[in-house]
Amino acid sequence: MLRQNRHPGKRIMRVRTRLLAVVAITLALAATDASAEPSLESIEQSNSLENNHQTPHTKWGKPLASGKIRTLFLVNQNPNINGLPLRHVLELMQRFDISGDAVLAMTGKGKTYAITYQGGAGVYGGETGAKRLSGLLKKPYDCYVVTGPVLGHLPATSRTTILKHVQQGAGLVLLYTTGDKDKPLLDQFQPCGAPTDSLEGIKVRCFQSGRGRVVSVQGYSSDATWNAYGPTNTQRVFGFHIRRDLFYEAQGRAVLWATNREPPLKFQIDLGSQSIPREQLASRKIKLSWNDSTKNIPRRIAMRIRSESRGSQQPRVIDDPGAAQGQREFQLPTLPAGTYWVDVIAEDKNGVTGWAIKRFDVTTGTRIAKVTLERSSGEAGDPITGTVEIVGPGIDGAILRVHVIDRHGRVLARQEFPKPGNRVAFSLASDTRMPGYLGIEAVIVQDGHDACYGYHGDAFTITRRKQDQWNFMVWGRLYATQFLELADDMLAANGVTTRMETSNVPWWYMTRAGMNYTPYCGSGLYRLPDMGPQEPTVSEHGVLERAEGCWNHEPEVSARLKKWTEDERDFRHRGVLAYSMGDEVAVLGSCLHPACWKVYQEWLKAQYGSIKALNQSWGTSFSGFAKIQPIVDETSIPWYPKRSQRIPWQLTWANNAHSSRGPTSGSTAWKDTWRNYPRYIDRKSFQYWNFANYCRRFRDAARQMDPHARCGVEGSDIFLDADIDVIVRNTGWWMPYAGENGGTTNEVIRSIAPGDYLHGNFMGETTFWSSILRGGNTLGKWRVDNMFTPAMQLKPAMKRMVKSGRIIFDGLGTLLNGNPKSEMLDEGIVMLHSMASVKMAKIGDGTSYGIFRWRDDQGKTRSGTPQSQFHVVNQRNHRAWHRNIRASGMQFRYTTDGQIKRGEFDPTRARVLVLSQYEVIGPEEEALIRKFVASGGTLIADVRPGIYGDRGRPRDGGVLDDL
Ligand SMILES: [Zn+2]
Repeated sequence: MLRQNRHPGKRIMRVRTRLLAVVAITLALAATDASAEPSLESIEQSNSLENNHQTPHTKWGKPLASGKIRTLFLVNQNPNINGLPLRHVLELMQRFDISGDAVLAMTGKGKTYAITYQGGAGVYGGETGAKRLSGLLKKPYDCYVVTGPVLGHLPATSRTTILKHVQQGAGLVLLYTTGDKDKPLLDQFQPCGAPTDSLEGIKVRCFQSGRGRVVSVQGYSSDATWNAYGPTNTQRVFGFHIRRDLFYEAQGRAVLWATNREPPLKFQIDLGSQSIPREQLASRKIKLSWNDSTKNIPRRIAMRIRSESRGSQQPRVIDDPGAAQGQREFQLPTLPAGTYWVDVIAEDKNGVTGWAIKRFDVTTGTRIAKVTLERSSGEAGDPITGTVEIVGPGIDGAILRVHVIDRHGRVLARQEFPKPGNRVAFSLASDTRMPGYLGIEAVIVQDGHDACYGYHGDAFTITRRKQDQWNFMVWGRLYATQFLELADDMLAANGVTTRMETSNVPWWYMTRAGMNYTPYCGSGLYRLPDMGPQEPTVSEHGVLERAEGCWNHEPEVSARLKKWTEDERDFRHRGVLAYSMGDEVAVLGSCLHPACWKVYQEWLKAQYGSIKALNQSWGTSFSGFAKIQPIVDETSIPWYPKRSQRIPWQLTWANNAHSSRGPTSGSTAWKDTWRNYPRYIDRKSFQYWNFANYCRRFRDAARQMDPHARCGVEGSDIFLDADIDVIVRNTGWWMPYAGENGGTTNEVIRSIAPGDYLHGNFMGETTFWSSILRGGNTLGKWRVDNMFTPAMQLKPAMKRMVKSGRIIFDGLGTLLNGNPKSEMLDEGIVMLHSMASVKMAKIGDGTSYGIFRWRDDQGKTRSGTPQSQFHVVNQRNHRAWHRNIRASGMQFRYTTDGQIKRGEFDPTRARVLVLSQYEVIGPEEEALIRKFVASGGTLIADVRPGIYGDRGRPRDGGVLDDL
């Protein structure tokens, strides 16, 4: 069985899909295998109500004079994603005197692919979870709060116990819109009228069940709601704090009513009218009256006026209310126009005895109708220009000010206009010290007071790409709309600097939290098949499969690249670290489309210069490059009866030049003279080049739209088995996997990439420090909702990583690795990498060398049987060198055959060259190695150095044998 928690993360997706067929069979055989269920410890962790991350809130009823309300929360959890369902509970508990426990439950079964919480419908954690619930139900709870239609999915005995407790007097609060499915539940209760005072503004259905009260909350007042996808102008800058306060305040009242614990003290707040002209404020008073039905005298009453933007006032406190029933008046302050909430909270010595909230509006005849910007983004230093429109009668002596403000309302730049007309053009300076997310505020000042405000309908962003910093990238979308702004702030506070896959999520909250983006783009790349050959496959027409078609077929390709990159135009302004061409995609590709084959012929010509040189290399006698055609062996797989079945395979093998390597399956035509390693290696080289060239073309298209565009891929799983050199030279960003055995690619990348190349380990959690110590400037983590507990706390592994990596997040990461000018030092030990050597080690008799058993970092054998998987052959040899060099307290770097051929490798900086399974040595490499040794350099080689010449051409003996 697969166990989710054993695997560090995203990698499992690939493993899972590859093994899907196997899993399906295993599941059928092992349906009762309890190991799939999470442990009690992990269930407790998922249900934990510990709150280490307080968010802004008002303690409406905390502590309560009447004491704590012991509550069991039965919380609806989506099995496939983490929608942070327990955060609602914490938000309620921050504001009310509620203690208790939570039980996550699900109404459906998760999908195998993206499952976050295993198990079928019912209590999360299967039998263990159900047992935990029945244990919890032995405690006396005052209230049961249910956040979704999960009651019907609990074990019947637990459900019966809960309903029995309710009949005996406990409260039951249903915090979801009940429907037909809830009819059998609600039919057990006697409907009763809703109280008009204590549940005012909440749409409810109230019931009685024995001695217990049941309330089903169907809706909230508009003041207590917010739309993360459509915030108001002021909410975009200042956030939703008041709306959240009012939302959970309403839920708190429902809990208090259900538990028969309504606050004894009632308030009346009288402002005369809900809408007050600003010039009348001086003559208006807030009349506050209270009455405690228990004749209890409040010790303290606090009154506040709050606004979502400007105008909030310091609280005013009545220290001597003096009587259980009383009245006070407050003069209304000089407020700017806007919407306000006045709230009052009364306390006795034990806690809160009552509170009330009332909304009012302040209006002005003259107001800001609109703030328009010429552009809503720019580089630091660009002016922020626009227009303010004012309507209403002019005011003598009024001044217009236009501000650049941050999310806390602090003024960062200001322009002042005495005697403004109806339309005022402004231009404000921006600079590098400003945050990336700015509000543009206009204010009319009258008699020294701010009279009214207006805001631009969107934020102005200073584009922050952070391409010269250390970045912590988190993959995935957050499925908790109501908490986007809180979660993004929390992620940013814990080191996250960039987010991936942002297509369906508003950017405001991420930008406001200081993060940038790595958008997923349409790209036409493809994933390798989950099972079978790890090579491109083609259709019966010879065209690349699983992609959007051939990468070289014009003009379609150019048109698609233009469209895909144009789709990301909006993100460009918010600061794009890199444009992702895909996750877990293949880094090679070619097909037999005529356009593609023509590009191959041209590529061969560029490589060889003349057909003579190619013929010499291949041992052929073509009269021109146009004569070179794919070798399609139509005799292979004869057991497939239909030609249409054979063709796609025969073409796929032709596309991958298999007949140049050895016979294809079932071939009767193949002869040993067909074996042509240079031809095979050239085809492979082309396939990597073709991928890299396609990435370069994508980048060029992206740069039409964003001149700063860096492009590349992440999550590739290639170890050393690719032309890393050609890929690095044609991309700007690459983050391969890097688990226990996957770090080899990253070792080559960090050695050969330019200083500003974005690279590092994807899946950096267990590999956090190894990525940093290997020079990675970008760390990837899968996936955002998996980093949080359901209560929006950092999961333990994430917490440990943040704790250990704080110094990296706080600046060392940028200083060491993010800085393009920083260079990793080494002892002059240089390892060589070439794609040709890796490929040749896997064909012919090469596979009998270097196939060690799978070993971990301690050298322990993990499997009793030798494995020769797609990629592991070569990288394991290299890993042994890495471990030994580092164990000797030394550092190394890589160079590649490409660097040597281009003269980019400086042998005078090297003291030792290490050839690990370096089977292919071409003339340039040979010359360099000989010169290096002759000048006193040390050469160390393991098995079979240089037994092949350029492009895998067989030799008699190793080329360096005489050294
Ligand atoms: Zn093609």
